[in-house]
Amino acid sequence: MLAESYHCVCGTLVLVLPGYANLAELPRRKAEGLQETPILVIKSDIDPQSAMLNSTLNKTAQVVRRPDGFEKRWLWRCNRCKIPWAYELKVEQESENDSTGRMMCLLVDSLTSTEALKRAADESGD
Ligand SMILES: [Zn+2]
Repeated sequence: MLAESYHCVCGTLVLVLPGYANLAELPRRKAEGLQETPILVIKSDIDPQSAMLNSTLNKTAQVVRRPDGFEKRWLWRCNRCKIPWAYELKVEQESENDSTGRMMCLLVDSLTSTEALKRAADESGD
């Protein structure tokens, strides 16, 4: 089974996604008024218990103003360095067919794959 694992900027293993070979293959979040760098979205078919490691979900939501309303984000933070690397989302006024309430966004700039870490270690190795 494919299982790609990802590390926080501090090197802590924070995410394991069975079946996902590459984060770049996942769809990106498209939304108006987002100021951060592009974010990858995964539907909630993952189990936080086994996918999210060494991390804590913030109990309080961060409210972000958007042109079409507000959105609430619950940040996943690395337990070691406290840097957020993903957030869960709930959009106000969501329609019944809207799946945004079940979305999770990965902050790609904060994640490095185990493979990339190994490559970097090999290159600086000798
Ligand atoms: Zn960290």
